[in-house]
Amino acid sequence: MGLLFGTAGTPRSSSGNDSVSGIRRVHELGLGCMELEFVRGVKMGEKTAHDVFKVAKTLDVPLSVHAPYFINLNAEGETLLASKKRIIDSARIGNICGARCVVIHAGFIQKYPREVVYERISKAMTEIREKLKSEGMDVTLRIETMGRLSQFGTLDEVLAITEVDGVLPCIDFSHLHAVSGKNNSSEEFTSILSRIEEKLGRKGLDDMHIHVSGIEYSEKGEKNHLVFAESDFKYKELAQAFLDFHIGGMVICESPNLEVDAMLLMGEYHTKSLFTL
Ligand SMILES: [Zn+2]
Repeated sequence: MGLLFGTAGTPRSSSGNDSVSGIRRVHELGLGCMELEFVRGVKMGEKTAHDVFKVAKTLDVPLSVHAPYFINLNAEGETLLASKKRIIDSARIGNICGARCVVIHAGFIQKYPREVVYERISKAMTEIREKLKSEGMDVTLRIETMGRLSQFGTLDEVLAITEVDGVLPCIDFSHLHAVSGKNNSSEEFTSILSRIEEKLGRKGLDDMHIHVSGIEYSEKGEKNHLVFAESDFKYKELAQAFLDFHIGGMVICESPNLEVDAMLLMGEYHTKSLFTL
């Protein structure tokens, strides 16, 4: 499907704040895809989900889902159960919408060694996938690279957890940059994409899911999202890396101006493609 660019939720310039208006606006703007933001809870009902499916299919706008922020799979008891339920609910509604994948912030490290957290999260992800499969839903779950080391989601971790069947990474390049202030040059973008290819092969690059935005950070990592123009994020170099590796999939822009930066990055990518063989 080539590489599509879109927004994290309904574009700012849409006629309404609902997802159907958002998909229509994405299409009008010449963007290619959209992420449905269930970040404050899965509030979309089945009827709306069917409407979303119809308009997305008619206009040929592939969708993804962002699961709620309130998830911690490095937990026990009620917290773990509620976290799993939020992911399963996201997948159920996302599946009706025809979404290609569900993006997840997997959890917090807390007092545990990272290897222990990995085992706990990997076990929970296996159980979630089994539950979804038992309900006939083969939904791809994607663990996102996170902007703080206190969270599960280094590049190593999101690549390792692809050992779980049906789990793939969501590469948030801005988060990778925010953790250390590194990961913001052609060489580093090249090294990230090479690591993905080593682990997942060519098909890993053909079907990527990417988040990107301007970002503000401190020594503790991510502070908040910015527009590209107000941040140091090297989106032009990133667009070149996308071309150099011939990647495919979806690039979701999370800058506060959503569609403006999505179109800026898409324009950069298409302009550069004229000069890249
Ligand atoms: Zn996210």
